[in-house]
Amino acid sequence: MTFAIVGMGRSGEAAKKLLLRQGTLSEDIITFDQKPGLADEHDPAALLARKPDVLVVSPGVPLANSWIVEARAQGVRITSEIGLACDVLAGEKLIGVTGSVGKSTTVALLGEGARHADPQAFVGGNFGVPFCEYAVEVLSGIRPRAKWVVLELSSFQLENCEPLSLDFSAITSFSPNHLERYANLREYYEIKWSLLDRTRGPCFLNSRGGDLKTWALQHPGRWVLVGSENPELTRFQLASARLIGRHNQDNLALAVSVGLAAGWPTSFVERMKSFTGLPHRLENLGTARGIRFINDSKATAMDSVLTAAAAATELCSGSSHLFLLLGGKDKNLPWEQLSVLKDHPRLVPVFFGHCGELAQSRSGLDGSVHAHLLEAVRAVLKNAREGDVVLLSPGGTSLDEFRNFEERGRVFQEYLEKEAGLNPL
Ligand code: ADP
Repeated sequence: MTFAIVGMGRSGEAAKKLLLRQGTLSEDIITFDQKPGLADEHDPAALLARKPDVLVVSPGVPLANSWIVEARAQGVRITSEIGLACDVLAGEKLIGVTGSVGKSTTVALLGEGARHADPQAFVGGNFGVPFCEYAVEVLSGIRPRAKWVVLELSSFQLENCEPLSLDFSAITSFSPNHLERYANLREYYEIKWSLLDRTRGPCFLNSRGGDLKTWALQHPGRWVLVGSENPELTRFQLASARLIGRHNQDNLALAVSVGLAAGWPTSFVERMKSFTGLPHRLENLGTARGIRFINDSKATAMDSVLTAAAAATELCSGSSHLFLLLGGKDKNLPWEQLSVLKDHPRLVPVFFGHCGELAQSRSGLDGSVHAHLLEAVRAVLKNAREGDVVLLSPGGTSLDEFRNFEERGRVFQEYLEKEAGLNPL
């Protein structure tokens, strides 16, 4: 049997490792990638000429490519990294999560709950560790089998995950996305909705997940709508969770509902409530001198900045101020969209970096401008008072001062630990 791995990203490499681990000879594995240097073959015709029996197609490669369609018509089996990993399962219980936004946060929350119920739980998929890496480690005896597996599934993965059979699942939201790959919105939503066909138990849906509720009401199935206001969740007082923002309350409600259906000991809810957020995404860094600090360094779109500002505003009480750190490197961003924040009664914008002045003038927001992030933070620390909230949700990319958004967020946090006495949560 000859396998061709199509797309040599992290999941392709993991698929290769699993095939080798299962005893496939390396000469029976052909790697393919359009980028030179990553694989044995770069030309689809040359690949097909080697007559593979199976194509293991990466989610990044559209199945509608004519040469893949042709291979399938000629009897070549099409599978994926997720499909290969499923063949290795023996009794694990599986939870799958998809959605247009909110997947990673919901998966991280479910990961907290699953690890509470089963310290060996595996959490991965589209975000984090590929499923095949789990399979390799189990087969190699590096780790025991998990009782619970939580998988983030993108729509591209759902198109090609044949043997996948989930015990429970969740959908976070439906909103327009990936229209470069789908003919229309209906097709994109149908792919996401196919998660239900792969789920034996109920599929939980976020009732405030954009177009999701309307879609569900038109499509009967084993689904359950969930909202943070659901009476059965009241006893858990989800509002006191450390996660910030209304949308995260919804993600939490969804994850809690799945955990309850899974039968995890209910103390898992406290563990989910202690989750402070994925690093650099509305991450609750904690307080120092009564001031709350939030790291949303990943935000490089105006929508994300506005969502973060709204979430941080919920934390402001009475007369407290919201200091919003904006700037970085411009990528032709529509800064004028931030002008809606002019009506915010207690917003203190503080601009920094390469595009600080540009962001200030385009947004029309009144605020000081500083050459570098840490100068701006220093100015904020001078002016902020107990009860205030400081939010880094810059809008611009990190590349004027840092290697990536992670480094920017880390520098922000470390400076606060050093200069403001911030204690890690
Ligand atoms: P994904 O993995 O689907 O990209 P994330 O959990 O990383 O999603 O969240 C990405 C961004 O999407 C967040 O920064 C937030 O602005 C927004 N978001 C997260 N959850 C929701 C939700 N339930 N509804 C609307 N927007 C959300």
